Amino acid sequence: MFDCIVVGAGFAGAVIARELAEKSNKRVLIIEKRNHIAGNMYDCFDSSGILIHKYGPHIFHTYSKRVYEYLSDYTSWNNYQHEVAGSIDGKLVPIPFNLNTLKQVFDAETAVRLKEILVSKHGMESRIPILTLRQDENPEIRKVADYVYEKIFINYTMKQWGLKPEEIDPQVTARVPVHISFDNRYFQDEYQGLPEEGYTRLFERLLNHENITVRLNTNACDLIKIDTVKKKLFFEGEVFNGPVVYTGAIDELLEYRLGVLPYRSLDFKFETYEMNYYQPKGTVNYPNDMLYTRITEFKHLTGQRIEGKTTIVKEYPMEYNRTGSVGNIPFYPIFTQENMKMYNDYKNMLEGIDNLFLLGRLAEYKYYNMDAIVESALNMYNRMNV
Ligand code: FAD
Ligand code: UDP
Repeated sequence: MFDCIVVGAGFAGAVIARELAEKSNKRVLIIEKRNHIAGNMYDCFDSSGILIHKYGPHIFHTYSKRVYEYLSDYTSWNNYQHEVAGSIDGKLVPIPFNLNTLKQVFDAETAVRLKEILVSKHGMESRIPILTLRQDENPEIRKVADYVYEKIFINYTMKQWGLKPEEIDPQVTARVPVHISFDNRYFQDEYQGLPEEGYTRLFERLLNHENITVRLNTNACDLIKIDTVKKKLFFEGEVFNGPVVYTGAIDELLEYRLGVLPYRSLDFKFETYEMNYYQPKGTVNYPNDMLYTRITEFKHLTGQRIEGKTTIVKEYPMEYNRTGSVGNIPFYPIFTQENMKMYNDYKNMLEGIDNLFLLGRLAEYKYYNMDAIVESALNMYNRMNV
């Protein structure tokens, strides 16, 4: 019936399915365990009629013209430019820490002096990871770095990961570098915004192809079995030799034979208020107070016009517990050496099953943004030679 199987209907699965269906004329079966498409990008209207992102706020941003143009076949964009404020000592200041933040948190004279030192050392528009800035030989620069570390990074990172900034992969905190600039945007990417009619609509269009069949509410691991000795993949009890692109978690595919791969998870609390806006920016981070890390107000992101009500989401980080009633979705891979070893051991078990392709945030155990996943899916299709 089908030439290819794709597990998961997030960006990884949907993009590769479309490529296989359209460019190679393959009949593709997508198996998705949730009751909807769009993976973690899924959006829907809540009971107040406000468009919300069920799995946390998603802002598309990319430097890649190729990815932007690819997705633009399925959506137009609202060109939203994301800004984040941090609640620091009772004030709302721009995050990432930039020259505007500097002016708000230091007295005028100190701010001018520190700005000159930072600009002459690093140059305008430079972006320096906090852990790098803390190593600077200039004590004045270290003073700024220590301030940012203490007020913005240490407590947020402890909440988010249960670990200190220096205990996690440096690339994670480098996502939010100190920015020597007056640009208050969270991202500087050339292309940014949200799909004008939402992500789910984008996915509906992406998957709307005569060669694509989507089966929802189905755990692919109940249907796909891996024989690691014979190097064969079975689908519904029969050997399946066509391409299988798997975008779920690798430990689940191998029935947790080596143990459960650790992740961080989140609990999202949505609240609706009878007011036009709840906060001045799309997202407000709470590094030092509260049990949640941030509050996002969807109307800022989507630009939806609706009078007298607004919905926000609070993100509570927690350990991933796959059988728990909360925290049961694996959101963020945790890159410790031990975890990477477990991931690689799982991957080695799959070596030699040449029709199985691992793709996506879960299957590759990587901290991918949406644009990187789309690019990766397009590249994988080109490598598949089908
Ligand atoms: P997913 O979207 O997770 O899709 C995988 C799909 O596979 C899911 O639908 C899942 O149900 C399904 N699946 C898994 N296992 C099975 C199985 N056994 N059987 C059947 N189906 C299965 N990126 C950005 O670029 N900008 C942002 O602003 C942004 N915000 C984020 C906010 C949060 C809170 C989080 C956690 C991530 C954010 N991301 C953001 C990252 C973004 O979510 C990922 O890049 C994206 O989800 C990756 O797509 P994917 O297809 O690999 O995975
Ligand atoms: N971070 C922080 N304080 C902030 C914002 C980010 O300490 O106010 C750190 C934290 O460790 C976080 C990482 O930087 O996990 C990456 O932040 P980003 O906003 O990119 O996280 P995401 O949106 O992917 O959850």
